[in-house]
Amino acid sequence: MFLLALLARGLLNTRSNVKNKTKFFRLIPSNEPAAQSETIEIHSHRMPIVFRRHARARNYVLRLHWNKTVVVTMPKNGSTKFAEAFVNSRKAWLERQWKVLESRKIPPQVLQPGMEVLFRGRSVGLAVARKGTEWQVNFGTQTLSIPAPEQNLRPFIEAHMFELAQQELAERVATLAREHGAVVSRVVVRNQKSRWGSCSYSGTISLNWRLIQLPAQVRDYIIVHELMHLRELNHSQRFWNHVARACPDYQGAEDWLKQNSGLVGF
Ligand SMILES: [Zn+2]
Repeated sequence: MFLLALLARGLLNTRSNVKNKTKFFRLIPSNEPAAQSETIEIHSHRMPIVFRRHARARNYVLRLHWNKTVVVTMPKNGSTKFAEAFVNSRKAWLERQWKVLESRKIPPQVLQPGMEVLFRGRSVGLAVARKGTEWQVNFGTQTLSIPAPEQNLRPFIEAHMFELAQQELAERVATLAREHGAVVSRVVVRNQKSRWGSCSYSGTISLNWRLIQLPAQVRDYIIVHELMHLRELNHSQRFWNHVARACPDYQGAEDWLKQNSGLVGF
């Protein structure tokens, strides 16, 4: 599934082409401190620029974070001046990404009663009710208890969905593996930030708990996608031929993911 993750991230990333500029870098003092309070104006909004130095970074990478912060990752000994110039040279790109962010459906970080959450492919309302000495959160068909009314229901809802995913996904993988003649050694449910699933050489399939939020056919496509990686551990044409045979409407699921991944925070 890493292709999907890369596509989604690639949309919001740009790199400096530093290959030809190595000499230029060596002329610049490398010990200047990173500026902390830089900002850039995008579509008349002043946005903070955060500079992050990374020991292993080879390029300058510019990212527009969903919280509307400009983040520049730079090599450990890179130049802040160059990083600033890089940000300014990519202003048009940042303006385009700003519009992409504005048009994306980004889930709120704080979930409160009356708000909606994606569950099994549908947006369902959140409600909180008192039950004796406890409080209950209801969404869709689900009920969970919380000790007190909370400012933010997100951690409780995510923990509940994680548990559901652990109960349901292994069984769904087993069913689909039987259907498609695949042998899985282990299923692990994870909290991955930017991928739906992965498959290892040893036959372990890792799945994101957020699969529980997707429509059933999209969830099944992701599982089948990983099952087909047991045959081809790459994204070659042969791999996609396996996927197309096992899941003829996989393109519909891919399209859904491209348009809606923002709903689960990707
Ligand atoms: Zn894949």
